[in-house]
Amino acid sequence: MAFDFTVTPRVADWRDRIAAFIAGTVVPREQEAFAGGVTDELRRELQRAAREAGVWAPQAPAELGGGGFRFDETAVLLEEAGTSLLGPLALNCAAPDEGNLHLLDMVATADQRERYLKPLVAGEVRSCFAMTEPPPGAGSDPAALRTTARRSGDGWVLSGEKHLITGAEGAAFSIVMARDSESGGASMFLVDADNPGFVVGEHARTIDRTTVGGHCRVTLADAVLPADAVLGEPGRGFAHAQVRLAPARLTHCMRWLGAARRAHEIAVERAVEREVFGAPLADQGMAQQLIADNEIDLAAARAMMWHTAWQLAQGSRGTEESSRTKVFVSEAVSRIVDRAVQLAGGMGTSEELVIGRIYADIRAFRIYDGASEVHRMSIAKRVARRTRERLNP
Ligand SMILES: Cc1cc2nc3c(=O)[nH]c(=O)nc-3n(C[C@H](O)[C@H](O)[C@H](O)COP(=O)(O)OP(=O)(O)OC[C@H]3O[C@@H](n4cnc5c(N)ncnc54)[C@H](O)[C@@H]3O)c2cc1C
Repeated sequence: MAFDFTVTPRVADWRDRIAAFIAGTVVPREQEAFAGGVTDELRRELQRAAREAGVWAPQAPAELGGGGFRFDETAVLLEEAGTSLLGPLALNCAAPDEGNLHLLDMVATADQRERYLKPLVAGEVRSCFAMTEPPPGAGSDPAALRTTARRSGDGWVLSGEKHLITGAEGAAFSIVMARDSESGGASMFLVDADNPGFVVGEHARTIDRTTVGGHCRVTLADAVLPADAVLGEPGRGFAHAQVRLAPARLTHCMRWLGAARRAHEIAVERAVEREVFGAPLADQGMAQQLIADNEIDLAAARAMMWHTAWQLAQGSRGTEESSRTKVFVSEAVSRIVDRAVQLAGGMGTSEELVIGRIYADIRAFRIYDGASEVHRMSIAKRVARRTRERLNP
């Protein structure tokens, strides 16, 4: 067994260039985005700059114009991109496009790659992923999926309601999960946004602000689809979702770790300059505890994430490992940002100091891609099953 955390020269070069790009080009645009929302115009502008800076889509395959980094190397680069809430969008490694890109790369046909994957990697279009439904439909429990896909001639007709669909407004296409009438299982469909049966409705007014295209209600109003709209195999939608979910959980961890690190660094910079009760805040016991606990959480979260990313890079499906890591990292980054707010005082709650915006934006990560409780349930079930098998061989 060999442990090796060496960051190769190419990864270090990209990491440093991403850091310079974020500091020089992305951070100066943050306040306007916080105040007015993230527009497609701003996205395109930042993406053009990212391409010119040679930091485009580090996680995407090289043959499609991305950086072509291995998944464990990506961990270093996406953390850096995440130090600005706009960074992942600028580098075309933000959710949901980044997860969709990976899924399409794994399961799309040659025609689907040409039509959907290539423009997505190039940043010419955005996409969304439509799984969640309003109650009583699919949420934490995907088996409650109610959107239906029924056969019509060679093709399909999709009917149902989705909500909280990130980026649906302005997306060129959506990957939609529906229960198909033939297999009775779930299937994935590629639905063009200009399909008259794909209707984007209101945006949920959530506490985060730095995604583009909202978190939208989407109605599949008897959307008529051709036979080749199926992504992957019919009836294997949940299996394909796993292809997307394990790495997508990890890439969320990578980006949010960067955001938490930034919040911590801003708070510590303030604490070393701020004098209270006759001494710098950073030198006072209870503030030292906040600073030290953040350093510990950052290091532990990064170590766990690198290990799981390495397992995925070795070809493991990483279902259980990514569950564990998702729970720990999503809760650790919440703790880190909460302590950063406390250390920074009143302005720590503000967008001006950035920490307040990170605090609001990071909260949902404990819910999407599997709420902490759902991951804990599945981890515990696996452990109990293994234990029963060991006790009763
Ligand atoms: C900002 C944001 C972006 C999103 N983007 C997308 C998107 O692009 N596409 C998409 O399809 N969905 C998206 N979602 C939806 C997200 O995936 C769901 O919110 C999530 O799966 C939980 O489903 P639910 O909201 O229906 O909560 P419910 O299923 O109603 O669960 C509510 C709560 O119950 C608890 N819980 C669940 N199961 C258990 C259990 N077994 N034991 C104990 N407690 C439990 C959890 O704490 C959970 O948060 C997004 C959500 C947010 C907040």
